[in-house]
Amino acid sequence: MRILVISDVHANLTALEAVLISADPFDAVWCLGDLVDYGPDPNECVERIRSLPNLTCIIGNHEAAVLGMLPDESFNSDARKSARWTHLHLNESNREYLLNLPECLTIDIATLAHGSPRFPIWEYILDTWTATENFESFNTQLCLVGHSHIPVAFFSSEPDGEIVWSLLKHESILQLDGRAILNPGSVGQPRDGDPRASYAIFEPEKNTWQNFRVDYDIKGVQKRIIKAGLPRNHAIRLASGA
Ligand code: ZN
Repeated sequence: MRILVISDVHANLTALEAVLISADPFDAVWCLGDLVDYGPDPNECVERIRSLPNLTCIIGNHEAAVLGMLPDESFNSDARKSARWTHLHLNESNREYLLNLPECLTIDIATLAHGSPRFPIWEYILDTWTATENFESFNTQLCLVGHSHIPVAFFSSEPDGEIVWSLLKHESILQLDGRAILNPGSVGQPRDGDPRASYAIFEPEKNTWQNFRVDYDIKGVQKRIIKAGLPRNHAIRLASGA
């Protein structure tokens, strides 16, 4: 079984379609939130994700902000502008779908949470200290998170069990022998210095997690962001992936 794990699509349909072509074939999709905001295609991305086979999807902080479930004061002014733009453009059906997504859930051997299992909506796992604390907040072998837009794995090292981390590069394969917190990176708004769309393939029978990067038409998406009247910065940063 090949499970496509995606996160932080951020309304970038061109990047999402490139990922779906690159990852094919897959049997199920696990989506870790932030389907919308920043990009020009919120409805198209929600509808495309809703159509995917055996989908499991959770809510991210951007859905929560766009839908008014979370004050957007923690956002900078560009992020506030795009959250308001997305709020105005989302249709009723997609709004309803996003409103009903769970914050956190367990499926098979994995816990899914957008930010962290401890604080699913807002906490970033960016260091081993935060990761170590979060290992106590889930009971499964694996915890899959997004939010930081950085493809990374946190796991315990031998022999002392200390939590260590590893950035995941294109095609790097992890053999999942013990517990781990894994992040597939961002489809539509990468922030690890590599502008290509990021995703992962999880194969439970083989116990492997493999990260992939795929090129897409960044210039085309930048033009559409600007044409839509969204903040220029959301277009500019796509080129650097930072
Ligand atoms: Zn995000």
